[in-house]
Amino acid sequence: MGLFKSNKREPVSKLNIRKNDIVRVIAGEDRGMEGKILKVFPKKQQIIVEGINFIKRHTKPSQDNPQGGIIEKEGPIHFSNVMVVCPNCGNPTRIGIKVLEDGSRARICRNCSEMIVSS
Ligand SMILES: [Zn+2]
Repeated sequence: MGLFKSNKREPVSKLNIRKNDIVRVIAGEDRGMEGKILKVFPKKQQIIVEGINFIKRHTKPSQDNPQGGIIEKEGPIHFSNVMVVCPNCGNPTRIGIKVLEDGSRARICRNCSEMIVSS
């Protein structure tokens, strides 16, 4: 039973990325671009990144947009398509987890070993 529980938690803890992290896109049309994470969908393992993956959406007329028509909005991308850009060394990096003395977990940059704190 204990095993099942830890399995269930895995997808969320595996993400290791948080809102407001700066990420670099490493796959797809927007490869090489960087942006800030606006939203994280842990269950879907998807994120929305500012300025990345614009999708056109057809909208019906509304109060904000009386004409209706097409608006462009960031669409979700899979988290595996991005790498977190370390705020300390400025490089896209893999994230490591370090357990601190008080038992809390901190994210560390595998590149420079500094802690990554999301703003
Ligand atoms: Zn670093």
